Amino acid sequence: MKNLPEINHCIPNPKAYWCPDCKAHNTFDIVSSKSSDLYNCKACGFSSMFSPAQVLPWKNGLFVIAGLSFLIGVSLGLSGDPNYVIPPLLLGAFFGLLAWMMAHYMKKWSAWASAQRRKSSEELRQEALDHPFQPEYDNSADFTEWAEQFLTPEEVERFHEKYGESEDGEKQEAGIVLRVEGEPREPPPSAPGE
Ligand SMILES: [Zn+2]
Repeated sequence: MKNLPEINHCIPNPKAYWCPDCKAHNTFDIVSSKSSDLYNCKACGFSSMFSPAQVLPWKNGLFVIAGLSFLIGVSLGLSGDPNYVIPPLLLGAFFGLLAWMMAHYMKKWSAWASAQRRKSSEELRQEALDHPFQPEYDNSADFTEWAEQFLTPEEVERFHEKYGESEDGEKQEAGIVLRVEGEPREPPPSAPGE
């Protein structure tokens, strides 16, 4: 069953984070590290979800830097002291490897995205319904960031109003069915101090 009919995680969106293992724009947990934020897929935990639109210029830039480093290494080797040859070649190999890894994931993305674009909207809708992972509503900053990849901030606001909890703690079931896993339905607890 599909929980969030407004967002189809099987429709390619280059600006949205994508999991190459699950082949979908799954929801994620954002883990901040020193250098950058990691987007961990909620379905498989894969920590290298990426936004293809963000990776593309990096991939191209790193290929250029790698190429230039090799050229510098080679020209230094031809013209002068061979001791200066190794550092630019190592640098070139390092950037080349990074660019190659990015190209590897971008290739997966491109193959998936072009296959998806050949499908009808009904096929995509059915695929989203059948996908083993279903994004679920969650009142968190990470979920908001996920939803804002596909919707405007105003639409996300309405999303929270529709799926979120009202002030008295009751689910607002505006024509949607929320999946409650194994939990018996209980009346909402009365607020403390009242
Ligand atoms: Zn995944």
